[in-house]
Amino acid sequence: MLKANLSGFLIKPCDICAEEFKLTVDEEVEFFISDGIYEDDSSIELDVVESFDGIADVEELLNSEIELIKSDYHSCDNCKSSDEEL
Ligand SMILES: [Zn+2]
Repeated sequence: MLKANLSGFLIKPCDICAEEFKLTVDEEVEFFISDGIYEDDSSIELDVVESFDGIADVEELLNSEIELIKSDYHSCDNCKSSDEEL
């Protein structure tokens, strides 16, 4: 089991106005790294990573996590505050 905290910021375009803004990221991430094919599908809401050579590429895992965060809906502070006014 790999538990990590992903924190920092990303630059991404706002989903409303398309202006780039700084998105603060502070996420707990958990991966279950399986040595070989993971067969227990009774599972658990975990990200299972299958490793076939005894090596898990943590950088790749975190990059895909970052891509997931980026693909979520995020709006910049300007759009957020105008949302609140509506
Ligand atoms: Zn915006």
